[in-house]
Amino acid sequence: MRIDKLLANVGFGTRKEVKKLLKTGVVHVDGEPVKDGKYHVKPDEQSVTVHGEPVEYKPYIYLMLNKPKGVISATEDNQHETVIDLLAFEHAVYEPFPVGRLDKDTEGFLILTNDGKLSHELMSPKKHVDKTYAATVRGEVTEEDVQKFKEGVELDDGYVTKPGHLVIREAGPISEIELTITEGKFHQVKRMFQAVGKKVLELKRISIGPLDLDSNLRLGEYREMTEEEIEILR
Ligand code: URA
Repeated sequence: MRIDKLLANVGFGTRKEVKKLLKTGVVHVDGEPVKDGKYHVKPDEQSVTVHGEPVEYKPYIYLMLNKPKGVISATEDNQHETVIDLLAFEHAVYEPFPVGRLDKDTEGFLILTNDGKLSHELMSPKKHVDKTYAATVRGEVTEEDVQKFKEGVELDDGYVTKPGHLVIREAGPISEIELTITEGKFHQVKRMFQAVGKKVLELKRISIGPLDLDSNLRLGEYREMTEEEIEILR
């Protein structure tokens, strides 16, 4: 990887700051000074030092984001802001990508990582990772709906969903619910409610597997996940 990227990754500042640092000649690769940010380095084979101190390189990053509405779960888009646009340079340089998708108008827990293996595992239908959503729904959600979701409902394309665990928090003309599902079909939660004649007005993902979204994160904020949190997901 590029030496400027590596240095930014490990916290030596923005791209500009790293360029300045390199110019001063304090960065060495295998004992030789390197001043060009484009210089390619193999962090697991070569030794990188700054002011003689070894640089600890970590290959992976794991972020917990509280996705706001209006941004899309993609790495690039010509028209819309993406979840990657929400990241500071020092995190974006790892080139993370979202694990799965939340709709543009859905809020909540999204994991961003550059660890393809973990991403693949979390997305694998075989792993059945639970995802819990909180939603505001137009229409009175009933015990009958709870039962139907438990048995599986038929979506508009004929697909019958795997059992979902529906909890009614408040029932009325506008209902508040929590729904846990193990799949991630396109617009799944919205289409499950559509199948029982109701409309999702607000949707937020609040947990992935055993992990809850950190309540300290405001919309648009993110933090690095802890070692324990990453381990729990594996
Ligand atoms: N289900 C939906 O309908 N939308 C999402 O963003 C996630 C689950």
